[in-house]
Amino acid sequence: MITTSCHCGAVTIEFDDRPEFAVACNCSICRRLGSHWIYSQTSKIRILGETKAYAHGDKNIAFHSCPTCGCTTHWSNLNEPETGRMAVNVRLADPEISKSIPLRHFDGADSWTFLD
Ligand SMILES: [Zn+2]
Repeated sequence: MITTSCHCGAVTIEFDDRPEFAVACNCSICRRLGSHWIYSQTSKIRILGETKAYAHGDKNIAFHSCPTCGCTTHWSNLNEPETGRMAVNVRLADPEISKSIPLRHFDGADSWTFLD
């Protein structure tokens, strides 16, 4: 299991899966957030603490952050909140853990493909 925590500690996440890789995306929001995403099913991720949600465009997903310290914690799928995929920002995990997961670059801004 991978545990992440925002800076102030109000939000922690338990990620009960083994990600093959993390994703750095260059789309309009991900490049600003600087997040590295690991993905799993909603059922394998537990969010502990209250977050603030932000949805833009066609509002398929909501980006969540800690209302106190502002760290981006995860995104959730608004169309399939119970069964869909969710992504957790692995940069909020212990550096030793995030370092051990290969990072892939995704071209979310343009071609919608991996760049590696
Ligand atoms: Zn916080």
